[in-house]
Formats: sequence, C-alpha cells, structure tokens
Amino acid sequence: MPPKEACGIVGIASTRPVAFQLYFGLRALQHRGQESAGIATFQDKIQCVKGMGLVHEVFQDNPSDLPGACGIAHVRYSTTGSSKIENSQPVVASSSTGDIALAHNGDIVNADAIRKELKKLGWAFITTTDSEVLIRLLANELASLDDIPRAVRNLMRRIVGSYSMVVLIRDRVIAIRDPLGIKPLCLGRLPDGNGYIAASETVALDVIGAEFERDVEPGEMVELTSRETRSHRILGGRRPAHCMFEWVYFARPDSVLAGRYVYDVRRCIGKRIAQEHPVKADVIVPVPDSGRTHAQGYSEETGIPYEEGLIKNRYIGRTFILPTKEAREMNVQLKLNAVRSRIQGKRVVLVDDSIVRGTTTRKIVDTLRRAGATQVHVRIGSPPIIAPCYLGIDMKTRDQFVALNRTSPEIAAEIGADSVGYLSMDGLVECIGLGRNDLCLGCLTGEYPVEVPGEKARFQVKLDSY
Ligand code: SF4
Repeated sequence: MPPKEACGIVGIASTRPVAFQLYFGLRALQHRGQESAGIATFQDKIQCVKGMGLVHEVFQDNPSDLPGACGIAHVRYSTTGSSKIENSQPVVASSSTGDIALAHNGDIVNADAIRKELKKLGWAFITTTDSEVLIRLLANELASLDDIPRAVRNLMRRIVGSYSMVVLIRDRVIAIRDPLGIKPLCLGRLPDGNGYIAASETVALDVIGAEFERDVEPGEMVELTSRETRSHRILGGRRPAHCMFEWVYFARPDSVLAGRYVYDVRRCIGKRIAQEHPVKADVIVPVPDSGRTHAQGYSEETGIPYEEGLIKNRYIGRTFILPTKEAREMNVQLKLNAVRSRIQGKRVVLVDDSIVRGTTTRKIVDTLRRAGATQVHVRIGSPPIIAPCYLGIDMKTRDQFVALNRTSPEIAAEIGADSVGYLSMDGLVECIGLGRNDLCLGCLTGEYPVEVPGEKARFQVKLDSY
C-alpha cells in the first residue's frame, strides 16, 4: 500500500465572498487528506469552521455561512499529532494585529524542541501539532514587529523541515514555501480579475476557473490581496529538494508540479520500468487507482494489453479496526476484487507506484492468484523505500519497510509474487525531469535535505547559514 498523503491547503484573496471557492478548491485536494477539513474567512474578524471527515461531510455542501472576501482552507491527514478535532486546521491565534489563521502542509523537524523551549518560558499549548507551534511563533513575532515579511523571516529562521503554508492576516493571505520547496505550492489569478489564489496543486485552481501563474519559489513569501500579489524573497539561494513522491503518488495526475504534468511523469515511469524489467506476460493490471497511469505506460511500451483486472469499491468510507481475522479478510476483499474473466489462466504484470510494508501487495497478489492468474509479476514505479520520511509523509519507522535489507527475489517471496522489479533511481530522476540534486530522495537513500537528528544529511546545511 502506498504511504498516506499529508495535507492540502488553499488561500484566496478576492473582491467577492470566497467560502464556495475555498470549498471547491478543498474538494479538488481531497486526495491529500481525508481526516478533517476546515475553512477560515475574514470579515471584520476571523471565523473558522472545521470538523472531522471529508470536505462535503464537514460543510454539507454549504459553506456559505462563512462571510468574507479573503480566507484559507485545509484538508488533513495527520502526520504529527493524533487524529482529533483539536488537531484539525486552520488554527487560529490572537496577535497584536488581531486574530490570524494558519494552514500548513509538511512536518517541522524541530517542532518538539521549540515547543519544549517555549514551555519552559511559560507558554501553554493546546494541541500536539506543528501548526500550533508555527502560529504561536508567528503571532509572537508579529506582536513585536508588526511587519509581516520580517516576522515571517524570523519564523523561517527558527524552523527546520518541510512547509507550505497559507496564513490569513486581516484582508490578506500570506503564502509561504520552505527554502527547499519540499511541498508544492502554486499561485493563480481568479476569473474576471477578482483576485488571487494559492494552493497545494493546480487542480484546485482548475476547479474554480483560476489561471495558473507560477509556483511559489522555495524560500519565498507572497502576499495576496484582491488587487495584487507581492513577492518577498525570505530565505533561499540553495538548490531545491522537491519531494519526488509528489510525482510518483501524492499529487493528482492532472496537476502540474514544477512545470511537469504528473500524468506525463507517471506514464514515462511506466515505460521505463517496462524497459528495465521486461517479462513475458499476457496482461498488465494496475492497482487502482495509484498504479493506473504507470500501468498504461508499461502497456504502451510493451504492447501487452492493459486491463482493469482489479476493481476498487469506492463506497467503503472510513474503515474500523475489525475484531476477527475472518472479518479483516472479508474487509480486504470488500475493498478490491478481481475480474476473473480478465485474469484466469493469464500471466499478469501487476503495477503499483510504491510498496511500503508489502502487506497490501501480498493480499492483492493473493487475490489475483485466487482469480486464476498463472503468474504474478509485480512492477513498482519507484525505487525501494528503505528509510523513514520526516518531512510530512506517514512513514516513520524503519522496520516497517519490506524492501529494507532484502533483495528483489526475497521481496517477491515475501509478497508471494513470481518476480518484483523496481524503477531505478536514474529512471525516476529522468522521468521527473529535474536534476537529482533538485529532489528529495530521503526515503529512498536515507540521506535527507535537512538536518534530522540521527540521520545523514545531504548537502548538510545548518540553520544559521540561511
Ligand atoms: S523523504 Fe521521501 S516522502 Fe519524505 S519528503 Fe523526501 S522524498 Fe518525499
């Protein structure tokens, strides 16, 4: 099973009420987080509505109670802090300039250390999230400076990690991207010249008819008002380290990141795995939905027919911990079923974007065999995951990775497949089309673009060098 996504954010400054545009922007980003959703808008004061569940469950398709022409929004999958309403976003805090609200995607590596330091100084925290640390630090800086770029600079000098943020301060939205650009953040112009939008992915712009302008640069802060955007170069001058997983799995295929269509990258990856790991087979079957585009590339390269041989049940909703083995097995079968007529008596190439633990892949291979597959060859659209992610993705402990210290034949035996083939590192980098040193490859190499206690750092840079 692929890793879990992190979060999605949207911020809009307009001449008109923004609640519905934020709502639809969030719905377009639902794939980035399904645990909670929230919207904060400003009209004389900040009002915020948030809740657990999917966007349309929280807002019941009617966010119009939130007034104001400026606002931010967030969908969450928890990577820090547990899954409860107190940890949902946007977070709101008081500052000398009035209330501010913040929505964040990423992980702050030194958040715990900062929290401990501040607690010693008498600060009290309500939640366990990075976001509360961020907003409290920012509110404190604004109190002493009342100068947004300088306050943001001081915040960014203190924090290490991955962060794309939108902050609501009075009638403006502040979009901020970390100095390595690990998480995506783009800017667009609203229809009819009504203002501006910042969002995690371009699909949030598409859904409201906004026109893509550009990505927020690593280390940049952009002030959005209904009339203009104003850029401030806060920190930077280093090479970026974009998360490679955005192209492999997290982002929607119809999004464009750093000028590369995610769909095109995945298709290229599929072709490349076919070149690197050819096998005699009768049918190419994707793991829905994550392996679909990769599998199409594999099929195009080899001429082996592509079949939707596995069908995903889209109406399961949230799953619960089930009490018996039998119930758990039925639950797996409920999620994914094989189309026997497409599988029986065939040599199958099963394509997915990644393997973390291998438990789900093992169950899928078993499902294909029970449907009559004579061989199952697994092909994976990324190199093996062997190290944790500390930068916003839910893969934290080393011992969970099936690929760690195992050869491909050993992994194949572990998941019950006839063979396993992973995309090479060169293949990944070439298909994304950016330089290897412009990508974060931490979970594939164990070397991270920022200092993580106890881990190797690539081009190690101390905070004080910014
Ligand atoms: S460690 Fe892996 S998942 Fe985490 S940011 Fe880097 S590339 Fe992305």
